[in-house]
Amino acid sequence: MASITLDDVTKEFGDGGDAVVAVDDVSLDIEDGEFVVFVGPSGSGKSTLMRMVAGLETQTDGDVYIGDQIVNQLGPRARDIAMVFQNYALYPNMTVEENMSFGLKMSTELSADEIEATVTETAEMMGIESLLDNTPGELSGGQQQRVALGRAIVRDPNVFLMDEPLSNLDAKLRTTMRTEINRLQSDLGVTTLYVTHDQTEAMTMGDRLVVLNYGELQQVGTPLACFYRPANRFVAGFIGSPS
Ligand code: ADP
Ligand code: MG
Repeated sequence: MASITLDDVTKEFGDGGDAVVAVDDVSLDIEDGEFVVFVGPSGSGKSTLMRMVAGLETQTDGDVYIGDQIVNQLGPRARDIAMVFQNYALYPNMTVEENMSFGLKMSTELSADEIEATVTETAEMMGIESLLDNTPGELSGGQQQRVALGRAIVRDPNVFLMDEPLSNLDAKLRTTMRTEINRLQSDLGVTTLYVTHDQTEAMTMGDRLVVLNYGELQQVGTPLACFYRPANRFVAGFIGSPS
């Protein structure tokens, strides 16, 4: 488990007159075990921020810390972070079991038996143990998302990054999965950064809310503080309005 610190982190794409400042001088301390939800309009830099924490994108300026270690030079694998995206990105030709064990085979010293036991245990936790021999194409959207979560959890990462993980699911499933993600997160105590554009997720899931606009931090606070004591007009309009 680990805290995360962003210290004056900036990301520009392109240069000269075409430059886009996707993330603009963001500083943020996230505590070990905290669940932080990131919201903001499309293009406000949420995904770019996640990708920099994951090591999939290198910042133009500033430092990213995991625990007290600067990880600027570390690639994704060395950061021990698990990501879940909206489009699942499961391997279509592998079974659920193979999808879940693939990362473990690549990154641990566990024996084949130990990997199988870990995958089975995680599959039971996610309610997908009966699907282990199926391929992703045979599963519903909700089941695929459970597999994606299971695949992230099975590696026992320090940090979860979730970028709109539920946005492809119907409303009823979203409600179920919201509860389930919160339950898993508190059971596992994993530091979690969660991106959403869903108002209900923003108001109910996290310990704190981070509001972004044009790559700049607008407010960091509890959902209630952002709702009742918005730091500026943008936050008042964004948090108060239905998405
Ligand atoms: P969000 O996830 O909040 O919708 P993004 O982080 O995807 O926002 O994008 C922030 C800004 O950075 C947008 O203006 C987007 O067009 C730009 N951007 C993101 N990725 C790239 C890229 N690989 N190349 C150029 N511009 C990018
Ligand atoms: Mg995005």
